[in-house]
Amino acid sequence: MELWYTEKQNDNLKLSCRVTKTLHVEKTPFQSMAVLETPGFGRALILDGIVQTTVWDEYIYHEMIAHVPLNTHPSPKKVLIIGGGDGGTAREVVRHPMVQAAVMVEIDERVVAASRAFLPELSSGLDDPKLDLRFEDGIKHVEACENEYDVIIIDSTDPVGPAVGLFSGGFYRKVHKALKEDGLFAAQTESPLFDLNFIARINDDVGAVFPIVRQYLACVPSYPGGLWSFTMGSKKFDPVLTPPASVPELPYRYYNKSIHLAAFMLPQFMQDFLGRG
Ligand code: SAM
Repeated sequence: MELWYTEKQNDNLKLSCRVTKTLHVEKTPFQSMAVLETPGFGRALILDGIVQTTVWDEYIYHEMIAHVPLNTHPSPKKVLIIGGGDGGTAREVVRHPMVQAAVMVEIDERVVAASRAFLPELSSGLDDPKLDLRFEDGIKHVEACENEYDVIIIDSTDPVGPAVGLFSGGFYRKVHKALKEDGLFAAQTESPLFDLNFIARINDDVGAVFPIVRQYLACVPSYPGGLWSFTMGSKKFDPVLTPPASVPELPYRYYNKSIHLAAFMLPQFMQDFLGRG
């Protein structure tokens, strides 16, 4: 008998993939969680019925959410990661040679536990001595910070449940305060094909607080539409006007210096919608 996992991506579309084994199912205090073995995507982490990451394509998302902001800042010494419980973003952040200290604030310690147990490719960076891992609400953490971080990376679930507040104008003001005077942040901001109104709202909210706001894109096949957006808010460095002069020589699989700039070149429908052009 064949077993299939089906994710309802919107009212009209579903993504299905064959499952060979259900490795873990749990109801945490914050969300429902499953880890599935799939022949198409490898192991997949599912939260509240939504694919968070898969071993097959995670490197694209994690390299892009980490190295684009890290290499936009000329000296990313102190970094904050909000969310990112699977560990993929932390793995990328700690291997950047300029990063001296990273704090990761994840609200749900059960996600980290499941990743440690079932997704060693992703959780491998969580024990790095550069990383200070804390289990608390990212919003509360940011509220208490002032002039502290060079780069903040918001690797959250979709804007539902505990992540809703991570996508608000009030939160971006707190992020601005938590950043140093030349700091910048990047956040995952959903599908440009399905969530353009949402991206435009984030663009306006970030633009109301930061002098520079930019979207960039990457292809992530396991996410709705296969094309994913990230939004960067920056106090000083514009990734488009000043792309990195050099990029650390790391064994990337997706990211490189050309992709860094190319990712900010938006398709016409996005430029039109966002009023750029
Ligand atoms: N790459 C994924 C995506 O785009 O769907 C996100 C992966 S990561 C598993 C997302 C994490 O954000 C989850 O583990 C969730 O518990 C965490 N999270 C959600 N809201 C949070 C909050 N307010 N503070 C800290 N972590 C939060």
